[in-house]
Amino acid sequence: MFEKVLVANRGEIAVRVMAACEELGIETVAIYSDADRNAGHVDYADEAYNVGPAPASESYLDQAAIVDVAERAGADAIHPGYGFLAENAAFARRVESTAGVTWVGPPSDAMETLGEKTTARTVMREAGVPVVPGTTEPVADADDVRTLGSEYGYPIAIKADGGGGGRGMKIVRGEAEVEDALESARREGEAYFDNDTVYVEKYLDAPKHIEVQVIADRHGNVRHLGERDCSLQRRHQKVIEEAPSPALDADLRDEIAEAARRGVREAGYTNAGTVEFLVEDGAFYFMEVNTRIQVEHTVTEEVTGIDIVRWQLRVAAGEELAFDQNAVEIDGHAVEYRINAENPAADFAPTPGRLTTYRPPSSIGVRLDHAVAQGDEIGGDYDSMIAKLIVSGDDRDHCLERSKRALEHFDVEGVHTTIPFHRLVLDDDVFVAGDHTTNYLDRAFDADA
Ligand code: ADP
Repeated sequence: MFEKVLVANRGEIAVRVMAACEELGIETVAIYSDADRNAGHVDYADEAYNVGPAPASESYLDQAAIVDVAERAGADAIHPGYGFLAENAAFARRVESTAGVTWVGPPSDAMETLGEKTTARTVMREAGVPVVPGTTEPVADADDVRTLGSEYGYPIAIKADGGGGGRGMKIVRGEAEVEDALESARREGEAYFDNDTVYVEKYLDAPKHIEVQVIADRHGNVRHLGERDCSLQRRHQKVIEEAPSPALDADLRDEIAEAARRGVREAGYTNAGTVEFLVEDGAFYFMEVNTRIQVEHTVTEEVTGIDIVRWQLRVAAGEELAFDQNAVEIDGHAVEYRINAENPAADFAPTPGRLTTYRPPSSIGVRLDHAVAQGDEIGGDYDSMIAKLIVSGDDRDHCLERSKRALEHFDVEGVHTTIPFHRLVLDDDVFVAGDHTTNYLDRAFDADA
C-alpha cells in the first residue's frame, strides 16, 4: 500500500479521499491556492503545500507545480478527485512517467479512449453496447449536420467531443438552427475543453439519466456496483442523485449494468469509473464514460456498503478486488442533495459570502460530505458546492421522508443555498412518484430555461 498520497483537489472531495487514506494508514498531502490557505482540506491533511494564486489555471490546474510538490513531499501516489485535472489524460500520463509516483485512476490510454465521446462510442459499439443514435466521426460542416438531421429526425444534439457537464452541447430543433448551434458548440468545446471537434446525436426528448458505477482491478476483474439515477437535472446539470433508480425493473437493471461492465472491459479500463446511459421507453443507450470518481459516488456507497475511494487506492496499489459480483447487494435507498451557495430565486446565481451560521443536520440516515465550517468565507473562485447531504432509508419513501427532516434542520445563513429548492422538489408529486425525466425540472420550475 502507498505510504503518502497527494490529493490534487480541494473541498469536500479532497477530505473524502484523505479520510479513505487515513483508514488505510496512508499519510496525506494537500495542495492549496492562495484563496484556500485556511480551507478545510488544508486543515485535514498531514501536510499542505501552496501551489499558486487563486485562479485554478494558476494553481489546481498547474500540472508541473503539483508533480513538483509530490516529489518534494515524497508522495508515492496522486489522487485527482473530480474536476480540475481528474480527466486530463496528459496529466495522468505525466504522473505515470514520474518515477515513484502512481496515478490513482485509470491508465492514461483508457482515459484518452473513453474521455473523448466519439472514440468512447466506437469502443462501446464494438462491445455490443447500444449507443445513442448518431455519428462516431466528427462532423465537418453545417451541410453534414443537416444531412444527419434529416436522417435521424429533429431534434438532434451537436456535442463537443471533449464536452461534459452539459457544456458544449447544443440542441437543434430544426434546420434553421443548425448554423448557430454548430458555431456555439464548437466555441464552447474550444473554450472549455480546448477541442473544437463536434459530432451529432439524436436528442432524446424525455429520457432518464441512468449511470453505472464500475470498478476494475489490474488482474482482469471488473465489478459493477449497481446504478444511480441522476434524472433530476437543471439545464443538463445534476441536482439530485439517487440509488437505486426508481425507474428500472430487474431485467433492465441487469442488462444495463452488464453492458457497462462489458464496455469498460473492452477498453482495458482499471480503477473506478461511471458509464452513463440514457433510458427511454424501456431502451437504453450509452452516452459517455466518466473516468474518475464522481460527485454522486456517495449514494452507491450507502446502498452497497462498499467504500469506493478505498478501493480506488487499493486497486491502484495493485491489489485484487476482494468481492465477487454476486456479493454486491443493494440494500435500502439513498439520495444525495447538492447544497450549493446559489440563489434559487435569482436563476441559481452563485452567492459568495461568509457562513455566519452553518449547522448541518445529524442523526440516523444522514451523511454529510463537506469541508466547510461556520465562519468560513465562501469565495467565488471555484464551484459553488459547499456540501453534499446524503440521506439513506429502508426504501425510497422512507428516504424521502427523512430527507425532508434533514433539509428542514440544515441551517445556513450568510449565503443563499439550494436547500429551499430541494425542499420544493420533495413536495413535487412527479419527483416523489419517480416519474421525472431529465427535462422535467426545466419545464416545471424554470419557465425561461
Ligand atoms: P456529462 O454532463 O455527464 O458529462 P453530457 O454533457 O454529455 O454529459 O450530458 C449531460 C446531460 O445532457 C445528460 O444527463 C442528459 O440530460 C443530457 N443529454 C446529453 N445527451 C443527450 C441526448 N442525446 N438526448 C437527450 N439528452 C441528452
